[in-house]
Parts: sequence; structure tokens; C-alpha cells
Amino acid sequence: MNLPDKSKLSPMMQHYMDVKEQYPDVILMYRLGDFYEMFFDDAVTVSRELELTLTGRDCGLPERAPMCGVPYHAVDTYVSRLINKGYKVAICEQLTSPGESKGMLERDVVRVITAGTVVEDTILDEKQNNYLAAFYYTAKGCGVAYADLSTGEFKLTQTEGEDALKMAENILNGVHASEIILNADGKNRLNPDAVYRVNPTIYYDYAFKYADAYGVLCQQFGVRTLEAYECEDCPLGISAAGALMSYLLETQKRALSHFNKVQKVNQSSIMFFDAATRRNLELTETIRDRRKEGTLLWLMDKTQTAMGARNLRRWIDAPLRDEKAINERLAAVAELVKNVRLRTDLTRVLGCVRDLERLAGKVSYNSVNPRDVLAIGNSLVVLPVVKGILDKAKCELLQSLAAAISLFERETEVVSKAICDNPPMLVSDGGYIADGFNRDLDEYRSAEANGKQWIKDLENKEKAETGIKNLKIGFNHVFGYYIEVTKLNMDLVPERYQRKQTLTNGERYKTDELIELENKVLGAHDKAVALEQAIFAQLRSMLNAIVKELIVTAGAIAEADTLLSFALVSIENNYVKPTIGAKIKAINIVGGRHPVIEKLLGKNKFTPNDTTLDKDCRTMVITGPNMAGKSTYMRQVAIIVLMAHVGCFVPAEKAEICLVDRIFTRVGASDDLANAQSTFMVEMIEVANILHNATKDSLLIMDEIGRGTSSVDGLSIAWSVMEYVTNVVGAKTLFATHYHELTELEGKLAAVKNYRVLVDEKGDNVVFLHRIARGGTNKSFGIEVAGMAGVPKPVLVRAKEIAKKLERREASDTNSIMLDTLGGVNQSQMSMFAEHDETAEEIRKILKETNVERLTPVQAMLVLADLIERANHG
Ligand code: ATP
Repeated sequence: MNLPDKSKLSPMMQHYMDVKEQYPDVILMYRLGDFYEMFFDDAVTVSRELELTLTGRDCGLPERAPMCGVPYHAVDTYVSRLINKGYKVAICEQLTSPGESKGMLERDVVRVITAGTVVEDTILDEKQNNYLAAFYYTAKGCGVAYADLSTGEFKLTQTEGEDALKMAENILNGVHASEIILNADGKNRLNPDAVYRVNPTIYYDYAFKYADAYGVLCQQFGVRTLEAYECEDCPLGISAAGALMSYLLETQKRALSHFNKVQKVNQSSIMFFDAATRRNLELTETIRDRRKEGTLLWLMDKTQTAMGARNLRRWIDAPLRDEKAINERLAAVAELVKNVRLRTDLTRVLGCVRDLERLAGKVSYNSVNPRDVLAIGNSLVVLPVVKGILDKAKCELLQSLAAAISLFERETEVVSKAICDNPPMLVSDGGYIADGFNRDLDEYRSAEANGKQWIKDLENKEKAETGIKNLKIGFNHVFGYYIEVTKLNMDLVPERYQRKQTLTNGERYKTDELIELENKVLGAHDKAVALEQAIFAQLRSMLNAIVKELIVTAGAIAEADTLLSFALVSIENNYVKPTIGAKIKAINIVGGRHPVIEKLLGKNKFTPNDTTLDKDCRTMVITGPNMAGKSTYMRQVAIIVLMAHVGCFVPAEKAEICLVDRIFTRVGASDDLANAQSTFMVEMIEVANILHNATKDSLLIMDEIGRGTSSVDGLSIAWSVMEYVTNVVGAKTLFATHYHELTELEGKLAAVKNYRVLVDEKGDNVVFLHRIARGGTNKSFGIEVAGMAGVPKPVLVRAKEIAKKLERREASDTNSIMLDTLGGVNQSQMSMFAEHDETAEEIRKILKETNVERLTPVQAMLVLADLIERANHG
């Protein structure tokens, strides 16, 4: 930064520089009257980023200091834009008012706003949690913690072993943190892509030190040990959580009482996805433009409350692996689907509940305003109705949610009486406490409104009582209100009049009644505002005392809302309850549909398909033309399995789903130029990840493996990956390919079956039937699809000519690939029985005689089988 010589600056600018020195890496917004001003480099940066006019201010130096400013009442918008561009902003407030201090006003930073610590409604997305995450890398493993300042949610976990880093990335990936802090070592390890390219901040190493972190957490929760939170077996997680809490306290500069516990993430009960799988399945954002429309979340979101919408997102991001928990959710959805009354009542009443979770957060954060308190009051009023409706449900989960809802009777009554309709936002100006709530306040208000009339009435009364016709009540700033009587009427002045001032032609008096009235009328407005603020402070502390229960209640309502959303989306789209559990060993889907494509295409336009993945068919090799629907089909299976694990009904006529530990996808290819990785490299990294981490309980979606390299290398990799997945991993797999040679593997590899997507060929035209059938295909219709896409005719004609020539060559290429395989297996077989020299020699002779180059792949395999047979008997 271009720092000027501080000693030559004006006192105010010197103070600015003092503050700026403490916040060198953030934009400092310095309050001057009605504006937040920025100076020097900050001003240049902000004026460029936000297209604000760059002006200047005299600062004591010959040249003016570059300056730009934003009006204080619109600061949120500017802060939000800066944060979206990756900046942090320190707010330096005026702490004294101009009347209070004689010299320079006191100013100091009251808060640093960063992407992960935003609490302003105007900046936050109400349907999405705003997480700050902490990542702690060590040689022993990784600690992960995350927290939402707007709701008080705070979680920690740790990962160990060979895949600790990968697993930590998967956890972070599901959190969608908007900011991440980490230790210096962590910065070099964490793959930015895994955490959605959020720019990480390196935080002090000491903050991650176990003892310090433990101490910070104990102090925050007001406890001496963390035993009660059952997280002591996660020391790395505690380090991350402690550092996170230090960062929050350092930036927010206030008590954060809603952070009163930390929860351990139970890794074995949740299905984690890697970044590629999450992206490929388009769970919460589309691949192409990262929008919400067109995602599973978009389809499933029929929630009535913002907290329900956030919970839905959390559930989609972390499907369950626990059979009991999944079936509890399914039973609740089933009841909501079946019971019209329960469903409609709940829909209606949840529409009246505001975002209690974030409102509770604002109460703790001390940023709650009169409108927020009204919103809390309006929501508290309906809690008994929500509880009553859920109480009538039969299933365990809805009943337990009913039990988790507290009623807050006293607070409901107080708040609903205290706050008026349509209150203003600001606490400072008054006008939000309802009439009738406080007698003194009512009097001040009536004094303010009726003061003039009261004075007039008193004047008339005094005239009548004294008989002084020209008596008048006047006002000046020295004496306040007074009764003025002219000299001529002096003998009529009663004794109770207290003389205050003598004039040339009259006298001014006060009476006890006038003094009392004066006290009421004068300053009634200021007194009313002060009293309103005091009442508001009481309301706030009353609500602060129930924040903990309020958050639990909000959580229960959010879950009920999510389950209701599952029911509504299931009814609207005709989904069925899946059967899911450990006893089921297969995936059997009858009439399955891709829920999002079905929605986008419109009613009855989507062709349903069946799926069976069981002991006889663990791997489906799916071939078919381009555009036939292979990718759609495979994703549909993955999404149906995922929806079942989330606890929602599924788009099918019938579905039996085994418990799946993880879903992996390898779909399409994308360059990751930012990380200097080519298309093929990205593809292979994803394949490697799958092969390392998948188990026999996983579901694998592999679309077009080996496309970004030469055909021979690609086919070889695809072939060998399929062998490995089938023979070694044993996962249930859907494998789509344009390498038609792979269909040869049915019958040769255990539990591999071929499927194809049917098309209707009419001359040069291809009609896509989108129907999956048994058997393989050897045509891709790529040129026909290119024609549909508008590729010029001469190019298509030429492509067909080339294709014909290549097809002729391909036959022999394929043979040679088969022979490679043949040769490879043959060699290994040979070595196995190398001691039978004679047999080996005989086989070599036979191979030569057979002239293998002329054989089709199948014939070649038969020769191989024959040879092995002979060798075994030889
Ligand atoms: P490619 O091999 O070129 O990648 P593909 O076989 O994977 O193609 P998809 O991308 O799955 O084809 O599908 C192409 C389009 O076909 C989809 O965008 C969708 O509009 C339509 N489609 C796919 N499946 C169905 C279906 N079952 N019913 C109706 N339309 C479908």
C-alpha cells in the first residue's frame, strides 16, 4: 500500500491510518457523518471495483488523499458487492455523537465483515446456509469445522488414514462454505476445486493449537471440559473448531451467545460425495452455469419456510446411510402423502412461520430490529397450531418433531402486545412499541400529540376560574410555559399563581398544574423514544434467554417443512415410496424416471425405464447412439438411489433399493485449466478416485471412460477399468460407452450384462426411443446427430465416406486389440505353466497356424478359451 508519512497528516487522517494499520488486508470503511469513506489505496480499489467516483480530501499533505464514499444507509449493498468480489470489509463506526465530545469524535472498528461472517438479511440468501469453514491439515490427519453465524450451527469432525485429505475435501465440498480459514500447511494441500474455489485465508497457527483451541471453545460455551459434546475423540476437529471460533470472535468483536454447543459430524451415518459426483448429478447447481434452476434441489423445493429450504439443501447434500433414520423419514413422508388433512393444515400454518432460526441468531447477535421482533412474535403465535397438527400424526418422526417444539407462552403474549403493526426498522427513532403496552409511554405520546390542546384547555379553564378575560398561556425557552396577566387585572390573580417574571405592563406566573403539564408536553417525543428503546432492550433480553429453545424449535419446524416438501413433490410428480434397507441386496427399479428431465420435458413426455442391478447383473454395459439417453438413464438411477437415501419418494412405479455407502460418477469431460489439468487428466483423476474409494456397496456411474485420448489407449483403459470394477471392486456399476467392443465382455466377466438404448432408423433419419433393452449395439449414429446439430451437409457426406473407410480398418484394429488381450492373457497363462515346456510350445504352434489376424474378436476369444482348456489338460 502507498502509505503517506503519517506525521504530516491531519489528526483525523492520522487516526484513520492508525486504524488502517491494524487492518492492512481489508477495505476500511471509515464513518464520517452520513457516509462511510475510504481513503488512499482502499479508495482507488473500491472506486474501480464498484465504479464509484474517486474524489479527494484535504489531509495535511500538499496533495489531497484519494477518497470515495458510500452513504451509510445503503452500506449493505456496497459491502455485499465487495464481498462477492472476494474482499473483506472493516466497519469503523463513530462511537460518540457530535454533541457528546468536544474534540475529534471517537471511532473504532466494530466488526469485520467477510463472506463467511455476513449476517445481514440483505446480503444473505435466505434459502442457503452461509458457512464459514476451518480446515486443519496435519501429518496425522485433517480437522474440519464449520459454522453458520446467522443460525448458530457449529459442527466439527476429523479424518485420518491414507485418504484423510480426500475425505476432508468431500466433507467440505458438501458444506459449500463461502469462506474457509486454514493453517499454512493446509493451504498447500487443499484442492481449491474441492471446496468450490473459495479463496482460503491462512489463519494463525497458534489458533489451531489443540490446547488453545480447546480453551477457546470451553470459554465460549462456559464449560470446563468439552466432554458433554462427545467430540473429545476428535482432537484435530477441536483444533479446527477452536480456530474457527477465534476467527469469529476476532472479526465480530462481540459475544456470540447462540454458539452454545458444537456437534460432531457422524461420518458413518452420512453419504459423502466427491466434488465431481456432486457436480455431475446437478444436486444443487447446474454444471453449465451453476444455477439452481434445473437441479434436484430446485425440483424438490416445495418448502414453506426459509429454514425448511435450508434444511432441504442440507439433506440433499448429505443423504443418510442409516436404515432406521431413512425409513423414519420415509414413513413421515408416507403419512403426509396419505393424510390430506395433515398435509393441508401443515402447509397452511407453516406459511405463517417466519425464519425463526435466523431471527434467533439476530437476537443473539444483538442485531434484531423491531420488524424482526414482530416477525418472531407472529411466528410464536402459530407455534401451538404447528405443534398441535404434528401431534396428531401417527409416525414417530413427526411426533418427535412435535415434542421438540416449545410454546413460549409468556414471550408470545408479551411480544404480541408490545410491538405495533408495521413497525419501522430502526430502533433509534421509536414508533414501534404498541399503544396500550406501557402507561408512561402512552402519556408521553398523548402529550406529544395533544400538548397544544391541553395548554389551550388550561388557558380557558384559568380564564373562567379567575375571570381574567385576556389571560394567556405563552412559551419561551428561558421559562418554558407561563401564564401572562396584564397590570390591569393584577387584583384578580389567585394566590396559587407563582410569579416568575415582571414585564412593563404585566406579570408572568406558573401554577403547579401548569408545571405538571409542561413536564408532560416538553420533551415528550424524546422521552417516548428513550422509553421505547428501554422497552425494546427488555424485549431483546427476554428473547435472548430463549434463544437455545428457539433454535431447537426452528430446527424441528425446518425438518417438518422439508418432509412436507418431499410429500408435496411426490404427489405432484407421482413418486412412490421406495423399499430400502440392509436386507435388500439389489437395486430394482420399475419404470424409473429422471425427475428433473421429466419435469423440464413436461407431463408424459419422459420414457420410463427399468433397472436391475443384482448378483446376476452387477455391471450394465450401456451402448447406444449419441443423444439416445444413456447419460440421462444412468443419472436417473443415481438420483433415484440418492432420493431414497435422503428419505424421499422416488420417480418410479416401484423401487427396491439396497443401502449404498457412496455414489460415484464419472460423467462427461471438463478441462480444469485453472489447475493446469487437461480434459483427460481430469477424467483419469476422477477414475482413480473411484477405483481407490469405491466398495462393493457403492454405486458407480461411468459415462464415456477413456474418451479424451487415442482410441486404442481409451478402449484399453475402459476395458481394464471395467474388469477391475467388476472383478476387484464388485460395486454396482452402470457403464456407458461408445466403445462397442466392450459388449464382448458379457459372458466373460461375471455379472456383466449388455444393454442398449433403442432407436428407430428410418432411412437417414434416427428416431430416439429412449428405451433401454437387453443386448449391445454397434452403431453410434454420431454423423446423424451431427446433422441434427446443423453441421453442414458436405462435411456430413465426407464424414460418411471416411467412416466407411475407417470401419473397414477398424475391423482389423479390433482384432488386434482382441489379440493384444489374447496375447496378454496367453502370455500369463504360458508363464503359469512354463514348466510344461512342451505344452507351451504346442500352443505357440497352434496360434501361428490359426492365423489369428483374420479372426473376429469373438473367434479370437474362442481360440483363447480352447488353448487354455488344452493347456489345463496338457
Ligand atoms: P451422448 O452419447 O451423445 O452423450 P446420451 O445417450 O448420453 O448422448 P442423453 O444426453 O442422456 O444422451 O440424452 C439426450 C436427450 O434425450 C436428453 O437431453 C433428453 O432431452 C432426452 N432424453 C433422454 N432420455 C430420455 C427419456 N427416457 N425420455 C425422454 N427423453 C429423454
